[in-house]
Amino acid sequence: MSAILRFKLVEEAFKKKPLEIPNREDRPSEFFAKYVFNRQKMAEYLPADVYEKMCDVIDNGTKLDLETADKVAEGMKRWAMELGVTHCTHWFQPLTEGTAEKHDGFVEHDQKGGMVEEFTGKSLVQQEPDASSFPSGGIRSTFEARGYSAWDPASPVFVVSDTLMIPTVFISYTGEALDYKAPLKKSIKAVTQAAAEVARYFYNDVNRVTSNLGWEQEYFLVDEGLYAARPDLLMTGRTLMGHDSAKNQQMDDHYFGSIPLRVSYFMKDLEMQALELGIPCKTRHNEVAPNQFELAPIFEETNLAVDHNMLIMSLMKRVARKHGFRCLLHEKPFAGINGSGKHCNWSLSADNGVLLHAPGKTPIENLRFITFIVETLMGVYKHNGLLKGSIISATNAHRLGANEAPPAIISSFLGKQLTDLLTALEESDDDSLFNLSGKKALTLDIPQVPELLLDNTDRNRTSPFAFTGNRFEFRAVGSSANCAAALIVLNTAVAEALCDFKQRVDQLVAQGTNPMKAIVSVVRQDIKTCKPIHFEGNGYTDSWKEEAQRRGLDVEQSAPMMFLQYLAPESIKMFESMGVLSEAELKARTDIKLETYTKKIQIEARIFGDLCLNHIIPVATRYQSQLIDNVHKMTDIFSPEEARQLSANNIKLIRQISDHTTFITEHVDQLINARRVANRITDETEKAIAYHDNVAPLIESIRYHVDKLELIVDDELWPLPKYREMLFIR
Ligand code: ADP
Ligand code: MG
Repeated sequence: MSAILRFKLVEEAFKKKPLEIPNREDRPSEFFAKYVFNRQKMAEYLPADVYEKMCDVIDNGTKLDLETADKVAEGMKRWAMELGVTHCTHWFQPLTEGTAEKHDGFVEHDQKGGMVEEFTGKSLVQQEPDASSFPSGGIRSTFEARGYSAWDPASPVFVVSDTLMIPTVFISYTGEALDYKAPLKKSIKAVTQAAAEVARYFYNDVNRVTSNLGWEQEYFLVDEGLYAARPDLLMTGRTLMGHDSAKNQQMDDHYFGSIPLRVSYFMKDLEMQALELGIPCKTRHNEVAPNQFELAPIFEETNLAVDHNMLIMSLMKRVARKHGFRCLLHEKPFAGINGSGKHCNWSLSADNGVLLHAPGKTPIENLRFITFIVETLMGVYKHNGLLKGSIISATNAHRLGANEAPPAIISSFLGKQLTDLLTALEESDDDSLFNLSGKKALTLDIPQVPELLLDNTDRNRTSPFAFTGNRFEFRAVGSSANCAAALIVLNTAVAEALCDFKQRVDQLVAQGTNPMKAIVSVVRQDIKTCKPIHFEGNGYTDSWKEEAQRRGLDVEQSAPMMFLQYLAPESIKMFESMGVLSEAELKARTDIKLETYTKKIQIEARIFGDLCLNHIIPVATRYQSQLIDNVHKMTDIFSPEEARQLSANNIKLIRQISDHTTFITEHVDQLINARRVANRITDETEKAIAYHDNVAPLIESIRYHVDKLELIVDDELWPLPKYREMLFIR
């Protein structure tokens, strides 16, 4: 695209969106959660006894009766109407992407020919969206499309513009989960209960454990005008073609660099709106790639944190448009530069104030620390293939293993201090570690754990699951994903490991072993068992791939094959025994993953084929004709010999263009054919595999030639904004 046209596109988009400086008089502490019906609002708008009941429902999961629900709805309505709200919706997280909502007005006939505003407990608690078009993986046939959504009181109701948003789970009439939230809540219950029981070995004041999640959302911004001129970005979220920009991230000048003014206005606006919705935004910075940024809030309870992440993703898209940008959440919008992830920082904390993954001050506390670290590793080790299955998608597949993101092998980095500690524990014998001296005084000869394990210096960016001082950071999650998918697996795997741990400890205790001694012995056993998952080296190297295979870790590279991990016997056993997902639900989910994968590649292949045939080939040919024309005309003024000499370079270009366009045309034909063959396959697994093996690689091989043409064809003619134009916001 010509530089002038590019300039015009950006300017046009700009004119419609004048640079707005977001500003307000009040402070975040004053407007935080302004649009959230949190406890403070409940106390204000609900009768005292109803407020008490609601707290009990939220804290202890007691059942909400319809009479109370009616009273809650009444208070909510009053609060919402003061904010100008006219509609309400159940807000849920179907197995597609993003969130879903169906708005209902507050209006009802008043039986006198007029209308009243009405919002009952029943519409707060349950709705029946006609759910036939949400994926159910065959659980719900279309003729009985009934699914229902049910309020999740643990996540507060909030207001977006004129609508009261009610976070809900989404379930089929036969009780199977059709969303992410229902199994997420079950997985949280499983892991927090198991963790509370284990925590009580060490403390007698633990009643409840919480699972925490702090996500870091990466994203790209592009100018809206340029985005509109890229059909591939518009339809697939990524550029299917485009040559590297001469300058991209090689100078490392974008990471933590100063934020462009327009972007900083966007960020400020976004943060203010997010804070009003109760999302505790904390950190913002430039990321490694040009035009790439990150936003991270303070960590929260996992269920709430997931809701907040879903909310921020839609808010980002909306606010970006207000500022003349488009926000790209795709894991790999641009080839050749870093993609976007969503690091999920995860930990467990007890209600006595102890972070269970953080080192403590006493030997007992350090044994608690090691127990939780090792049992987390046990879960991750046992289900490493499944964890990979939980984060893989057609889009995230572009990012994993691409020398920028975690490799497509799950391993855990612990850092030198923790590694030394585990080695010491593994190698020492029982007696030196565990001395019962005197009556009750016991000393655990565990080397002193320095408090500053939080040391950032020995961080290993190549590790997909790294210990970072008081939590684990799961870095393989994709930027566009619902992080619940990963957390359902992580929570459940750790729940299973903790239950198994407790069973073995209790058995030893029942046989008369001292509890602490029993714990040390089981932990020592487990340190040995889960050793293969522990890797301190560089995960980007080929030698690690070989080593990982030797260690028996999952090294599968193909996305469709990774999904099948959900159906592995040990996965089904884990999910069922922990009460998180049934075999039928797992089958349905796997089908949906496969289907979604296929559809994504299918759409990419179609758009790519179209672009090649009606954008690229025509301009390449036109430019080639111009060159041919020039070659002809040279003979008008020069002697044939001279003309040939002077046209040598153009003739070379004419040939190159022919080579590339021939390759493209032929292979687009093959691409169409490969799609046809794949589409005829009825089995979802086989179909996804065909798309992975036969369709996706063709796109890549054709792209190479398109990108070469981009370097040859007159810039004036090139129909698409180029990387160098899209990647640098002024
Ligand atoms: P970095 O980029 O260095 O990894 P950030 O500060 O960007 O770190 O993000 C770290 C995230 O981890 C934040 O959301 C933070 O609140 C969260 N976090 C910090 N401590 C914990 C913890 N114990 N459990 C879960 N999340 C945590
Ligand atoms: Mg991080």
